[in-house]
Amino acid sequence: MAGLQPPRGTHDLIADTMRRHRHVVETAARVTGTYGFEEWATPIFEDTRVFSRTLGETSDVVSKEMYTFEDRGGESITLRPEGTAAICRALVTNGLTQTLPQKVFYQGPMFRYERPQKGRFRQFHQIGAELIGAEGPLRDAEIIAMAQNVLEALGLGDDVVLELNTLGDLASRAAWREALVAYFRDHAEALSEESRARLESNPLRILDSKSEQDRRLLDAAPEFGNFLNEDSRRFWDELRHYLTAFGVKFVENPRIVRGLDYYSHTAFEFVTTKLGAQGTVLAGGRYEGLIEQMGGPAIPAIGWAGGIERLALLLDAPPELPPGIAVVPMGDSALLQAAPIVQSLRAAGFRAEIETRGNVKKRMERVVKSGASHAVVLGDDELARGVVQLRDLSAREQREVAIPELVQALGER
Ligand code: ATP
Ligand code: MG
Repeated sequence: MAGLQPPRGTHDLIADTMRRHRHVVETAARVTGTYGFEEWATPIFEDTRVFSRTLGETSDVVSKEMYTFEDRGGESITLRPEGTAAICRALVTNGLTQTLPQKVFYQGPMFRYERPQKGRFRQFHQIGAELIGAEGPLRDAEIIAMAQNVLEALGLGDDVVLELNTLGDLASRAAWREALVAYFRDHAEALSEESRARLESNPLRILDSKSEQDRRLLDAAPEFGNFLNEDSRRFWDELRHYLTAFGVKFVENPRIVRGLDYYSHTAFEFVTTKLGAQGTVLAGGRYEGLIEQMGGPAIPAIGWAGGIERLALLLDAPPELPPGIAVVPMGDSALLQAAPIVQSLRAAGFRAEIETRGNVKKRMERVVKSGASHAVVLGDDELARGVVQLRDLSAREQREVAIPELVQALGER
């Protein structure tokens, strides 16, 4: 087969790119672990209803981005476009709705049929966290602080800004929705075609529109802040106080509504200007009703998800591999002895390889180029005496070491 390409919007993760991804995942797992979070993994495909029921029929994801197909048994299956709905499904299916709170970290591939561009793919990867059974704004602040800590641990603390908004409770949103619809009706001719359709189905989504035309109208739209009822206002005030207590800086941005239907009160995005249009690296919010929709009781929760590709792009450099040790047999009879020696190094945790290509000069050149810290040179005469030459390649020093003492001489890892 000639010239096969990966599907549009997908990419291979090779060597240092994979190292960047792994670094993001391991850092997030470690930092969320300090908050008591533990990793869950759910299937990458689910019954389509897990997403269609919960994300909102009119959300971008459900209306145009889902990879949905019928499997051979006639079941409607969807490749997961996000993690939250699946985690809530898993909470219910595994009978954990009475064992709260649950603190869940997850990571893995997500799938959305989007127009591929820098930082936007059809298969991409997310890290995410869900605190299920989260009463009150203290928890929201804590979970946002955790996200901030993950970004700091990745060295991105100065590259991102936290943008914060409140979506209030259902009652507040209903009052605002009415005012918004009235406003958009008055300006219907200036709306994009897509948003005119949303006016009937889900007007709040117009706020999330990426169309220039819509964005111009939004500047004069009624502000949600004026429609918050007392409970919602208190929640919002307390959230901001707790964030300050956790040492988290933020800017308020009333335009943050999030793309999915299940959010309430807190909504936030960590945004950078370094990635062009795809500036949101991590986003989340409080949600209610999702677990009920999965057949469980009403449990409030808060969570976030970060795009690993975008975070990996922002990293200065991928973490370096530890330098290796090269075992270099000089002659053919030393080849056989190289095996137990290289195995003893690996057993002690060193990255160790045997270099056999070319003559001895070529071998040493290769070793130096490989970035190895040491070469273990096996000469026939030395091996007959049970010793090797240990060459420190950065200090350019060489000494004789008895084979049983080699690992110790290298300083165990
Ligand atoms: P956007 O507004 O960029 O489409 P979104 O609101 O759809 O983002 P979420 O569903 O909140 O994104 O996903 C959380 C994070 O996952 C995003 O902030 C982003 O970093 C990442 N992400 C989302 N979609 C993609 C994609 N198609 N390719 C790469 N990363 C993505
Ligand atoms: Mg999107």
